[in-house]
Amino acid sequence: MLSKKLPSLLLLALLTGCATNSAVQLKPAPEHTIANATISTQATEQILSTLASDDMQGRQDGTPGGEKAASFIESHFQAAGLSTLTGIDGYRQVYSYDEQPISNIVGVIKGKSRPDEFVVFGAHYDHLGMTDQGVDRIFNGANDDASGVTALIQLAQYYKQLGNNERSIIFVAFSGEEAGGFGSKAFSTLIDPDKVVAMFNIEMIGTPSKWGRNSAYITGFDKSDFGTILQRNLKGSNFHFYPDPYPAQDLFYRSDNATLAAQGVPAHTISTSKMDNEPYYHTVDDEIETLDIPNTTAIIKAIAVSATSIINGQSTPTRITEK
Ligand SMILES: [Zn+2]
Repeated sequence: MLSKKLPSLLLLALLTGCATNSAVQLKPAPEHTIANATISTQATEQILSTLASDDMQGRQDGTPGGEKAASFIESHFQAAGLSTLTGIDGYRQVYSYDEQPISNIVGVIKGKSRPDEFVVFGAHYDHLGMTDQGVDRIFNGANDDASGVTALIQLAQYYKQLGNNERSIIFVAFSGEEAGGFGSKAFSTLIDPDKVVAMFNIEMIGTPSKWGRNSAYITGFDKSDFGTILQRNLKGSNFHFYPDPYPAQDLFYRSDNATLAAQGVPAHTISTSKMDNEPYYHTVDDEIETLDIPNTTAIIKAIAVSATSIINGQSTPTRITEK
């Protein structure tokens, strides 16, 4: 990603979409132009509305809707120009669950100077499918987790176009999350955890957090200095990462970061979901109309900037050591 720290004015402009009141005229940096082109509100809306459409039938593993979602993500990885991970066929890691073939979709941007050090971005594309009762029978899963997969696709486009990552970046759209994290378990067999310097798992970023817009929380915040590094990279912006405010819910262990975290990787989930007050969570009403798309877009841009020093090799988060 960036080879130098962004000046704070530029960072502010990046996060607020160009509108700076400063009298200083900054020449648009490539980061700025690329971020606005790849992580735009329109692009967020377009990708998210397709993933959450009735056509995808709730994206359940092993169904035509789940397969449609997998192909959609695959085609975006291909169009973005991502490379493939050694050891799997194309962008697909096929594993067996319940005697059915299920796919994780995996793409890579090889690091320039440290290709054997990996930064992983993940989000799960599977959801709950359909129910056989009611008028609306489809669990669209717009927030859970079409929002995270949308971020994943836009981050892949952004970093690929920037083309200056020193470490390798792996993008994984997981299956099998709702059934118990089987996709992320399967994925963990493909890589040596000692080579993974950080994992950003993105889960439910479609609604404003309990603190309002331009904020999100990080699960397991105090288990490594990952969150501190992310916040440092956002200095000068109005975006804030908080520690997970719902510790009793054990969210750290309830998403796709858990497998790599248990292997020592600073693997954390970024979310805005108000777990005590998210009325559409796991209902058929989790639809795009209930989401704040401009805020989701701001969060995705903030994640892109917050990862800067990890991707360019300047920061390495501390490992997770607890058992
Ligand atoms: Zn869910």
